[in-house]
Amino acid sequence: MDSKDIKLIIDGKRLDGRGFEDLRPIKMRVGVLKRADGSCYLEMGKNKVVAAVFGPREVHPRHLADPIKAVVRYRYNMAPFSVEERKRPGPDRRSVEISKVSREAIEAIVMKELFPRSGIDIFVEVLQADAGSRTACLNAASVALVDAGVPMKGMISSVAVAKVDDVLVLDPMKEEDNYGQADIPFAFFIRNDRIESIALLQMDGRVSKEEFVQALEMAKRGAMKIYEMQKEAIKTKYIMESEGEVNEIE
Ligand code: UDP
Repeated sequence: MDSKDIKLIIDGKRLDGRGFEDLRPIKMRVGVLKRADGSCYLEMGKNKVVAAVFGPREVHPRHLADPIKAVVRYRYNMAPFSVEERKRPGPDRRSVEISKVSREAIEAIVMKELFPRSGIDIFVEVLQADAGSRTACLNAASVALVDAGVPMKGMISSVAVAKVDDVLVLDPMKEEDNYGQADIPFAFFIRNDRIESIALLQMDGRVSKEEFVQALEMAKRGAMKIYEMQKEAIKTKYIMESEGEVNEIE
């Protein structure tokens, strides 16, 4: 079937019943991994991801250490069973690209200069993917960094906007990503409850200048909602901890 034959908007609603500017349901749980310094399990629609942060700690191999600031490493990895067609294990062009742009986004918020000669390692594992996995991973990584107690200038909140059937929609799911006209993942640097700058911006497909401006505004509103959920998830962990409960998944 030609992608033009697939209708993604029916009676003003998306295939999963959402309005154009609705996020998928989001769930977060902070501190789920015992061995990591900070961690977060996150669901964004059908995406299921886990982020683990280690450090600041000694860098291995040693020659990678920077005498004036911490080295931040970010590894995005998809489990072979996370997608419909088995994914070959190990890094590929896509995961290397996602790891690079995500690291650059995270580097904007980490106060690296406080930790010369050390390393901060962020691992994100996609257990189930349904489009927008890089945005889900960034949201989880940002929360895991807070959980690890890494000093940061703010938070990263991330969401994509897609163009489908000639309209812009927030947080596209798989069908919208596959058959839509454009997909634009955004990540924002948020400081003092305000969006300070764009930390990641990619684009697959084409949109007009006016549509891009609209997409940016839509993404900003979506990211602010995610940011509130990230703060809430972190608070929940501390409340549970103060009551002697553990937030690990049993
Ligand atoms: N996908 C897949 N196999 C792959 C890579 C991606 O089935 O090897 C799917 C997966 O559901 C992913 C979606 O395609 O979430 C969109 O991938 P994209 O590269 O746009 O990244 P994402 O939107 O997940 O950040």
